[in-house]
Amino acid sequence: MVDLKTQYAKIQPEIEREMREVLDTCMFIGGPKVNAFRENLEQYLGVKHVIPCANGTDALQIAMMALGLQPGDEVVVPAFTYVATAEVIALLGLTPVMTDVDPGTMNITAAHVEAAITPNTKAIVPVHLFGQSADMEPILAVARKHGLYVIEDNAQAIGADYRYRNGQKVKTGVMGQFGCTSFFPSKNLGCYGDGGALMTNDDVLAAKARMIANHGQSKLYYHDEIGVNSRLDALQAVVLNAKLKHLDEYNAARNRAADYYDQAFSQVKALKTPAREPHSTHVFHQYTLQITAPNSAQLRDELKASLAEQGIPCMIYYPVPLYKQPAFARYWKGGELPVTEALCASVCSLPMHSELTNDIQDQIISAVKSFFAAKGL
Ligand SMILES: *Cc1c(COP(=O)(O)O)cnc(C)c1O
Repeated sequence: MVDLKTQYAKIQPEIEREMREVLDTCMFIGGPKVNAFRENLEQYLGVKHVIPCANGTDALQIAMMALGLQPGDEVVVPAFTYVATAEVIALLGLTPVMTDVDPGTMNITAAHVEAAITPNTKAIVPVHLFGQSADMEPILAVARKHGLYVIEDNAQAIGADYRYRNGQKVKTGVMGQFGCTSFFPSKNLGCYGDGGALMTNDDVLAAKARMIANHGQSKLYYHDEIGVNSRLDALQAVVLNAKLKHLDEYNAARNRAADYYDQAFSQVKALKTPAREPHSTHVFHQYTLQITAPNSAQLRDELKASLAEQGIPCMIYYPVPLYKQPAFARYWKGGELPVTEALCASVCSLPMHSELTNDIQDQIISAVKSFFAAKGL
């Protein structure tokens, strides 16, 4: 699905030189490499504060803790997302309220949010799924109207631009009270282990999140509240500093690969290519097709098996709506969200990364097209 090896070969000298420096100084936690990365990312995103932490899931948890959300508070999330988004809500004793998503962009919209609001709603977690921003301006307006916090789950869309109706452009992850991202190796900006970060323009919230990420400690061995231990280490910061310089280039390569897939699959009637959100650029964390033919789930299993035989991976992000996962059974009051159900039964993601060549894509495209041609679809 990704080719980290080829990408590494291109930045190897810088990474090895900088890692050796960390090894020589033995400054493994915090220190100048982590500070440099924090500043570089603040500058890149145009945000006042970046708070590095151990992973994207922690970032979401720390954001909710810093906002002071309390057991019983409801948090609105899309049902079609990675588990981490809703997991931390449940972990903190908050109640995840799952909504459907737009069938084209697969993102939550303001209308979905508004329909889910109750007197207990305290926050919204829009997920910028697969690499493009949810339409934030109307979501932010709903949040303002009802006094709700907004935490952007930006784990899949770092580097994407959101465009307000007046033409102003901002990076995803800097519009809500907090943005949260992950540096898991396969993400668009990935390190060589686990890593994550929060973003905020609010000085008070930044200080709070920084404190919570560090054992609720205001100064060494003085603990103002219960926190967690969530740090980005210096070796990961080295990788992230090296890759951040190339992030726009990596995302542009993903866009070229997506355009190439789009063109090839436009003639396959049984496939719907990814919709582009008019208010966001797309950074194609995933290239996700929808199988529109009847029996899509069965066709998809057959497609997956046929591609696997030819050594081509394809992944189902995500096969089960969150409310149907056993872990979330207690939050499900019955009923189904039709778009989420349809997406879970029809999506299929193809290899997508910064190192795809036309040759590799031609093999993938030809395998997919032959599969559908043989079915007369
Ligand atoms: C990857 C991901 C996360 C969690 O990030 P980790 O670093 O793996 O903890 C959260 N939300 C979404 C949408 C993700 O894709």
